Amino acid sequence: MDQNKIPQATAKRLPLYYRFLNNLHYQGKRRVSSKELSEAVKVDSATIRRDFSYFGALGKKGYGYNVEYLLGFFRKTLDQDEVTKVALIGVGNLGTAFLHYNFMKNNNTKIVMAFDTNADKIGTEIGGVPIYHIDELEEKIAGVQVAILTVPATEADGITERLVDQGIAGILNFTPARISVPDNIRVHHIDLAVELQALVYFLKHYPLD
Ligand code: ATP
Repeated sequence: MDQNKIPQATAKRLPLYYRFLNNLHYQGKRRVSSKELSEAVKVDSATIRRDFSYFGALGKKGYGYNVEYLLGFFRKTLDQDEVTKVALIGVGNLGTAFLHYNFMKNNNTKIVMAFDTNADKIGTEIGGVPIYHIDELEEKIAGVQVAILTVPATEADGITERLVDQGIAGILNFTPARISVPDNIRVHHIDLAVELQALVYFLKHYPLD
């Protein structure tokens, strides 16, 4: 199937579906209804049916979707057969938590190296990930496709520029800085403070009951 035909909004939900279906598969389940899926991943079932039609998966009434088929499709589409190497820049509180977190459990991405400027951290390992000095970035980063930025906001621009020069494909930016990159590089921005504030705002102004 031509992956370019999958709308971006659908593609963004793929890892969510993938994770849930993988769990079902481990439990030995062979099929799943769109209603079950909908409740588990909190996406309405009409959207799920539309998403899945792009994957060539047509649910049968009273049967649902074939878990094996969907997993096969997701693995191919998400390139789950190939490990995506990730570098983490900034081993502070947040960065350290990520190094301890096992991303491999649910998808094939792996933090293979980390960088910092703090002499106490350089040369050590956290969660099995070696920590290098940021000055070694250019020397070490070959083969890494994605970078996670957990440095202070003031450092974000300079480091981004260096990552871009080294041919990074994507950056997950946890700093509040709005970094700019050429069009062919993808940046996803996650500001936990803003997300938390937004949630509190919604709770206050749009209560669910
Ligand atoms: P966090 O924001 O993750 O809670 P923190 O409060 O522990 O972190 P910050 O000051 O935000 O610390 O810095 C995050 C990490 O980034 C620290 O470990 C710091 O040493 C590191 N750091 C600072 N400047 C750079 C840089 N230029 N390159 C790489 N790492 C850096």
